[in-house]
This record gives sequence, structure tokens and C-alpha cells, in this order.
Amino acid sequence: MQFQLVKGMKDILPEEQPYWELIRHNVDLMGANYGFARLDTPVLEFTNLFKRTVGEATDIVSKEMYSFVTAGGDKLSLRPENTAGVARSYIEHGMVNQPQPVKVYYLAPQFRHDNPQAGRYRQFWQFGFEAIGDKDPVIDAQLIIMSHNFLTDLGLEVEVQINSVGDSNCRPNYLKTLRHYYQDYKKDLCSDCQERLNKNTLRLLDCKNKRCQELAEQSPQFVDHLCEECKNHLMSVLEYLEEVDIKYNLNSRIVRGLDYYTKTAWEIVEAGAEGKASALGGGGRFDDLVELLGGRPTPAVGFAMGIERIVALMQEKQIKIDKEKYCDLYIAQLGVEARKKSLRLFEDLRRDGFSLAENISKKGLKDQLEVASKKHAKYTLILGQKEIADGTVLIRDMENGIQETVDFNKIKAEVRKRLSSQVMRSLKIRTKPPVV
Ligand code: ATP
Ligand code: MG
Repeated sequence: MQFQLVKGMKDILPEEQPYWELIRHNVDLMGANYGFARLDTPVLEFTNLFKRTVGEATDIVSKEMYSFVTAGGDKLSLRPENTAGVARSYIEHGMVNQPQPVKVYYLAPQFRHDNPQAGRYRQFWQFGFEAIGDKDPVIDAQLIIMSHNFLTDLGLEVEVQINSVGDSNCRPNYLKTLRHYYQDYKKDLCSDCQERLNKNTLRLLDCKNKRCQELAEQSPQFVDHLCEECKNHLMSVLEYLEEVDIKYNLNSRIVRGLDYYTKTAWEIVEAGAEGKASALGGGGRFDDLVELLGGRPTPAVGFAMGIERIVALMQEKQIKIDKEKYCDLYIAQLGVEARKKSLRLFEDLRRDGFSLAENISKKGLKDQLEVASKKHAKYTLILGQKEIADGTVLIRDMENGIQETVDFNKIKAEVRKRLSSQVMRSLKIRTKPPVV
């Protein structure tokens, strides 16, 4: 019997990792530049956390959660998204007492029992940025800029689709208008939407069914029904976006899947693919979420992006990234004694911070030098029988092939001297995303 992947799961193989590494690296860099600190929450939370926040009427909670009862009787779920966990953590750890907004980010797997298809998995990775404790529209704008520029920096062409979903002040009226509009078309709606009509009316607007989309197209628009405050908020966000030349489409069909959103809602999609392709990411304001979980009323805004979809689009667009491995020193060895001594030399140099490579199980020098050039080693240190006997090391400049014998005890000083003009070459490459 041969085991297979569980349906909807995905291995991220070594050859795909350069994309993931680049994305993880850029996420950390974005955190540092914009002042967001990383927050890791557990994969498991109480099921009620998601029922309360995401909402029982949403697809995520009603159909897509991996939920179970533990031996001890606790009702738990694998997290289907990360914002609820972040808000729980904010309240539980009294982050309200820190300077506001508290800005955090995560990069973590999420679980939804979705229908597996292209770009849709049951375990998928998201990274997300959340700013909790500030209602200023400039924060919304900054998060939109971040989510947009993250993707354009990777070489992708994307668009911002933006809308407002109002607040408790103007939403009830709008929902009434919307329900009234749909009354006449009830029988035209897909069965899901017929069910959503009274429970989750906003979701009718982002149904993927064709006829439902046509009806949504003609429906009354939220932007025409916003209260003064929500309208001004949206206008400010748009002005900030114009300030940094970010193109956006006002799109009344962007409502986001989750119940806790207020005011600004946006999605980032591939340019020209609106309505056709699934979003790469989305975000919005969630001014009611913290209070919903028993905290003080606390405005907040954030976004989440799906890493599998970003990687897939980069591959589809044939965006080249640097997949090469780099190291400063390669350690080659010939003979039993040399192999032993090279083990020690390797550990010694590694502790001193050199970036290294080796192929200790190989016996021939040719094999080893081939790997050394593949890894773009600057120098290869060769330990053979003669070197062992003399207490020396042969140092080979991989660029011009020139070799020189150095006293074993002076090898560290020698390579440090030679490398100082190009210290940490491998690190330099890391800080500059290798997009070609
Ligand atoms: P969709 O409408 O495509 O189902 P969603 O509204 O459920 O998306 P969000 O909850 O906003 O998605 O999650 C943000 C991002 O996470 C999405 O834009 C997408 O990139 C990613 N994502 C969501 N569900 C999946 C999934 N099942 N597989 C892979 N990525 C996903
Ligand atoms: Mg979904």
C-alpha cells in the first residue's frame, strides 16, 4: 500500500522553495520597514472563536471548518483564517495598554474544507498584516499600498478593487434596500444565494454564479448609501492612494467573505482579471471585531494574502528568480585522515560565521570541485594526504583557479582577509530580492 497526499493538501517541494523563500523574506522586510512585529498564534482555537467572529452564516464556518471535540470535551477547530486569533491574542495579552495602533503580522498555514481546484487547497498559507487600535483612514491606505506593492515588487501586475461596506450606522438601511431589490429576482438566484438572502445578504454580491453576478452588477451600490462618516473615510483612503499613484477600481461587489468587516474592503487581483481569477489577497477594516470578542471598542484594519496563488501566478508569468545557491567556502577532502580533519574544520569555520558547503561522502576531487562551482563558492579549501602530512591547506581561488598552500593554523585569518572585501556575499544577496 502506498500512501498519498490527503485530498486538498500540497507538498512544497525543494524546487519550488526559492519562490517561498523570496516571499517569506520580503514579508519580514515589509514588517521591518513598516514597523509590524511578528505574531504567531496556535493552529488550534476554540470553535466558538470563529463562530463568533467569522460568523455562522459564512461558508467558512458553516461548511469549511475542520472541527472536532477533544478527549477532554473541548470543541476546537483548525484555524480557517488568522485575524480572529490575532484579535483574541490582542485582548488576552492586554495589548490595548501598548501604544496604539499595535501592528503585527503573521505567515502561517490556514485550513478550510474548500472544494479543491486550481489555487484552492485545504491547507494553504497566508501572510497577513494587521494594525489594531487606530481609525485613521491613512492606515487603511498604507495597508492597501503595502499589499499592492508587495506584489508589484515581485514583478506581478495587479489591481486594487475597493469598496466600503459601511458600519452599523448605515449598513442596516443598505441591506434593506438590497433585499428589496432582490425580492423580484429570488427565483433567478442560485440555491446558495436564495439561502443567503436573509442571513448574509452582502455575500450575494460576490457570488461566482453567472446569473447572480449579472444581478449583482445591477444592484443598488453601497457607496450611494453610506453615511457621512463612512463616505468621508472612503474618500480619504482614495485620496491617499492617488497620492502614491496606486490605481484602483471602485467595485461595489467587493464585500469580503467575513462578517466582521466595516468601512474599507479591498481585494488585490491580477491586472485585467477582475471577475475571472480568484483574488491574490484581500483586506479591510474590522472596527467591530475586538469588541465582539469582549474587548473595548477598538478600530482595526488588515489584509491577508494567499502564498500558493502568488507563487502560481509568478510561475505562470514566468517571472525569473535567482535559484542559485551561494557560499563563500567549499571544503574538499581526499583520504581518510583528511576527511576526519575536514569535519572539524567545517564546524570550526561554521561557528565563526562563514557560509560553507561540502560534499563529505564524495571521494574524488573532480566531483567535489564541480559542486563547489555549482554553489558559486569563492574559494575551495582542499585537504589531501600531502596537506595533512605538512599541516597545511590548499586554498583555490574558484574564479581564476590559482592555488596556494597555507599553514593550517593560519587558514582562518587567510580566508577572512581574502573575503573581507566581499564579506557575507550570501547575505547581501538575501537583502536584495533576486528578482530578474
Ligand atoms: P475566495 O473568494 O477565493 O474563496 P476568500 O474570500 O475565501 O477567497 P480570504 O478569506 O479573503 O479568501 O483569504 C485571503 C486570501 O487567501 C485569498 O485571496 C487567497 O489568496 C487565499 N485563499 C483563500 N482560500 C484559499 C484556498 N482554499 N486555497 C488557497 N488560497 C486560499
Ligand atoms: Mg473562500
